[in-house]
Amino acid sequence: MLANQPDIELHVCADAARALPIAREIRPTVILQDLVMPEVDGFTLVRFFRADPSLASIPIIVLSSKEDPRDKSRAFEIGASDYLVKIPDKIELIARVRAHSRSFLAQLDRDEAYRSLAALKHQLEVKNAELSRLSTVDGLTGLANRRRFDEVLDQEYRRARREGAPLALIMTDVDYFKKYNDTYGHQGGDECLRKVAAVLAQAARRPADLAARYGGEEFALVLPHTTAEGAAIVAETLRSSVEALNLPHAASGVAGHVTLSLGVAVAEPSEAELSPQALLKRADAALYQAKRGGRNRFVAQGGATDAASEAAPH
Ligand code: GH3
Ligand code: MG
Ligand code: MG
Repeated sequence: MLANQPDIELHVCADAARALPIAREIRPTVILQDLVMPEVDGFTLVRFFRADPSLASIPIIVLSSKEDPRDKSRAFEIGASDYLVKIPDKIELIARVRAHSRSFLAQLDRDEAYRSLAALKHQLEVKNAELSRLSTVDGLTGLANRRRFDEVLDQEYRRARREGAPLALIMTDVDYFKKYNDTYGHQGGDECLRKVAAVLAQAARRPADLAARYGGEEFALVLPHTTAEGAAIVAETLRSSVEALNLPHAASGVAGHVTLSLGVAVAEPSEAELSPQALLKRADAALYQAKRGGRNRFVAQGGATDAASEAAPH
């Protein structure tokens, strides 16, 4: 019945023991199988097909010599896709073979589409993670960028308020950096910024600390749970560490090497009126004072008292 259908490629296997290896080799889109065979039980063979991952989803039409409801339900139970009584009508047989084959091929297409969709989804997730990292990291220095700094300052400010803890902010700016660029070129300037940034990254010791490039040659350090005393120590460490890098700066008006000026401000829990913006302004004002006071130093802008304490380099 099937042998001379132009769209059907018929393979015959007369030995049940060879059925699985042959099926694995030719990859049929439909299996037509007798339920009653010499030596082997047809139900068992169906089970074997279903247990093999590479064959499990191929439709199996079982052929039985009798119309027995129990055999029929058992056949469907163990995974047969269709049940025909011998000898079937030719038109019906061919129609069923074609229908099962078509739906199997469609299933394969769908599986493939799902697989590529899943792969694409994974690629998209990887790219998105990379994008969100890039959108928070400064390209030149690898520190947090301005956007991330704004986010973290806001977040840490609110957390500090909730926890009744102080929040320190250090703003720092490279001294005479315009002259540095003029002397060593823009690329030399970039290299210098990378080295200064590495010192800042080191200074952000606790997990919640954040070192950021605020813009140009200005950097910021957010220090949660840090008092004015603690922040002053960090600021002085930053100042002396950059000084210790001993990066030549022949045109500097304050030293023969690259130096930093720093402004320190602390939001005390007692200051109800403060905001992240006001804290930033306070640190900026302190930085301005450090510049005016001669550079290569830090100035700590007192909180509630607003008293400025200055520290000159040794
Ligand atoms: P001051 O001691 O008062 O801070 O003097 P300054 O020259 O450092 O201050 P100013 O803000 O006038 O100059 C900052 C310079 O930093 C200007 C700009 O050319 C340079 N700059 C800003 N961003 C970059 C950068 O990404 N790479 C380099 N190489 N230079 C930069
Ligand atoms: Mg500047
Ligand atoms: Mg500067």
